Amino acid sequence: MKPVANPPNPYTSRHAEWLEPPPAARVEVYEETARSILSENDSPDLPFRWSVNPYRGCQHACAYCYARPYHEFLELGAGTDFDTKLVVKINAPELLADAFARKSWRREAVNFSGVTDCYQPLEAVWLLTRRCLEVCVDHHNPAIVVTKGYLVVRDADLLAELNRRAGATVYISVPFASDKTARGIEPQAPPPSRRFAAIRRLCESGVPVGVLVAPVIPGLSDSEIPEILARAADAGATSASFVALRLPESVQPVFWERLKQTMPLRAERIEKRIRDIRGGQLNNTGFGRRMTGEGVYWDGVRRLFEVSAVKVGLERLRSPNPQATAAACGGANASRPGEPDLAELVSRESSRRSAESDQMTFGF
Ligand code: SF4
Repeated sequence: MKPVANPPNPYTSRHAEWLEPPPAARVEVYEETARSILSENDSPDLPFRWSVNPYRGCQHACAYCYARPYHEFLELGAGTDFDTKLVVKINAPELLADAFARKSWRREAVNFSGVTDCYQPLEAVWLLTRRCLEVCVDHHNPAIVVTKGYLVVRDADLLAELNRRAGATVYISVPFASDKTARGIEPQAPPPSRRFAAIRRLCESGVPVGVLVAPVIPGLSDSEIPEILARAADAGATSASFVALRLPESVQPVFWERLKQTMPLRAERIEKRIRDIRGGQLNNTGFGRRMTGEGVYWDGVRRLFEVSAVKVGLERLRSPNPQATAAACGGANASRPGEPDLAELVSRESSRRSAESDQMTFGF
């Protein structure tokens, strides 16, 4: 167990410092009766509008996780609190069914894991993601799942059925090829070798799968892009995308601490590379820039990704691109007789959203 360690929370006036060694961080699970389950996003950076997050916090404990600051809104910490004080929205499936039953609902694709991983270990017990997917199947509603969790293969049959009825795609997030490197930065997530195995199992079950190299940590994981894409393609993935590392304020101390603990000799060089792609800063929150990098080094990463994807035959998904999302949802006929199909709905929605502003982030 790790000792309790959280950066100061900017939203509270209290901060605990320990005179003695801090106690071990213990897993605590809180049940929440949520008021709604569909979060609406209109960020121009993201290829989806609706997301479903049955859990707050994430046991995978990735050091770079951009969702850590969300825990501070709960008056918890962005460090070990995020990894161990977990909230389950126990009425998520019922709320989703209610939302889908509304006359105004247009059966747009919903994205699972817009914030935290919907197949983290808690899902093995609470089954909220599975039950939400069952709601999608019942309502013929397309879905996109983004995860690092091997547990997703448990629901392969369900996802295949959803893909047949309405469209479903799973994106497996694989930032590293090496299990050892991943262990240092994503200590409680399944290793990459398990994630490639998950891609294979899902594809064998008839589920369309893409790979997300997210995040690319310049100076650490960019050199592994060709191997990640080759192994993903070999396992059956058909598309790929990548996202640059983002380091919001409260994430920085967690990330640096983990990096210095696990690879102290590389930390300084990695920081330099991060600043290279962020115009000298560690983060860039601007629309259109926060998910990507800039400068000569990032141009090299982009070229490496594109050449590697072409070489192994992976379709390059470009974000934002709502049409790509529609295509990614299997291309299945999502419409009931007399209704517009998914691509048309997404296209209309894209036009409506083009004049609107940003609300939310996405950080796998
Ligand atoms: S990056 Fe994803 S898998 Fe990792 S801790 Fe965050 S939500 Fe969990």
